Amino acid sequence: MKDSSLMYTEAILDHYKNPRNSGNIADAQIRQRGINPICGDDIELTLKVEADVVKDAKFTSNSCAISTASADMLLTKIKGKTIAQAESITSDDAVSALHIPISPARIKCAVLPLVTLKDGINSFKKKSKENKTSTTE
Ligand code: ZN
Repeated sequence: MKDSSLMYTEAILDHYKNPRNSGNIADAQIRQRGINPICGDDIELTLKVEADVVKDAKFTSNSCAISTASADMLLTKIKGKTIAQAESITSDDAVSALHIPISPARIKCAVLPLVTLKDGINSFKKKSKENKTSTTE
C-alpha cells in the first residue's frame, strides 16, 4: 500500500507548480511570515486591505507541496472577502480544501498558511486600533 500522505492530487501539484497567487505586494497592509520547523516550511503572506476587504493577496513560499497548495487555495478563497470572513475560516476548512487524507504529521503543513494569516490579521487589527486611538487624540 502506498503512503496516503504522498498521494497528492493533480490539483495540489498544480497549485504547487503554478501558484496563482505567488508574489509579494509591496504596499501590503498585512505582511506575515510563518514557519513550520517540523517540515521546514517557510511562507510569507502579503495582503492588500481596503475598508476591511482583502483586495489582493500574495505569498512567497519555500515549502512542501501541501503547504504551498494550501496557501494558494487559501489566498484564492479570501480575495474579495472581508477580514471577518477570512477570520472565520477554520483549520478543518483548510485541511478539507486539499481533498486528500492528511496524516497528523502533515496537519501543520496544511494549516500553516491559515495560522499565518490569522497572526497577520491579529497584528493588523492591533495596528489599526492604535492608529484610531492616536488620530482621536
Ligand atoms: Zn510541509
